[in-house]
Amino acid sequence: MQIRFHCPHCDLPMRLSKWESLEALQCPHCEKSIPTEVDAAAKTLVIDHCVICGGKELFRQKLFNRNLGVGIVVLGIIASFFVIPPVLPLVVVGLIDLILFLVLPYMLVCYRCDAEHRGFKVGETFKHFDHLRAARAKQQPTYPGAEENH
Ligand SMILES: [Zn+2]
Ligand SMILES: [Zn+2]
Repeated sequence: MQIRFHCPHCDLPMRLSKWESLEALQCPHCEKSIPTEVDAAAKTLVIDHCVICGGKELFRQKLFNRNLGVGIVVLGIIASFFVIPPVLPLVVVGLIDLILFLVLPYMLVCYRCDAEHRGFKVGETFKHFDHLRAARAKQQPTYPGAEENH
């Protein structure tokens, strides 16, 4: 497992992959302590809340390297100038994208503090990103009536 998050005090990005480092966690930059919400279930890689802020709202997101994805598409476009028929490399790119999408695992991201939980079990209860839930979790105002229209 790996957890990526920002210090709630100074916003320093951090990456932790040991449970021990989450206990009595202190920011290496601002030296303030960061309370975490690790429980016994979390240690078996089952979570129903964010282990950093305790937020109950998490969404699932594919662990997809955006640079890699863009690189593959660019290669496909360049190859289409040299290959006959030109559409062939683009078809291959589409297939690679599809295969990557199917094999890549999900991570769980906290709506409230944006912490990324990698390597945890992602049950069906976790949905994809939803703008309204994000706004609610961050206590941002939503457009009047937006909730009803959803
Ligand atoms: Zn800090
Ligand atoms: Zn959180």
